[in-house]
Amino acid sequence: MGCLFCNIIKGEVPSKKIYENERVYAFEDINPCAPVHVLVVHKTHIRNIDELDHSNAPIMADLFLAVKEIARSTGLEADGYRVIINNGKAGGQVIWHLHVHVLGGLPDLGPMLSV
Ligand code: 5GP
Ligand code: ZN
Repeated sequence: MGCLFCNIIKGEVPSKKIYENERVYAFEDINPCAPVHVLVVHKTHIRNIDELDHSNAPIMADLFLAVKEIARSTGLEADGYRVIINNGKAGGQVIWHLHVHVLGGLPDLGPMLSV
């Protein structure tokens, strides 16, 4: 069984592209939780934060610099936005390819958690 987000990056599964560079791909979440809900993924498959070490840490810089570009291009930068990484089972991670959620487009996104 392949990785859904790797298949999206390869174009084998369709997605609505928001941003792309040599190392990063970003697309609309299929089930948005806010007016703007973008998923930002690295083209290198890594399961989640638990697999980070000093050798692959530039993945995080690539992801967050892309978040900044996306915030600018989607108009989120002015009012602010939320960035979420669900890491592991208790964190709510269901797709096991590290990804950053970028959420915004409301005057107030509300409390950080509603458990
Ligand atoms: P997680 O819970 O792993 O942090 O988030 C996975 C996200 O991927 C969810 O917000 C879900 O809506 C999104 N997602 C799942 N399958 C697809 C898909 O096939 N296409 C897109 N664009 N998003 C997906
Ligand atoms: Zn993958």
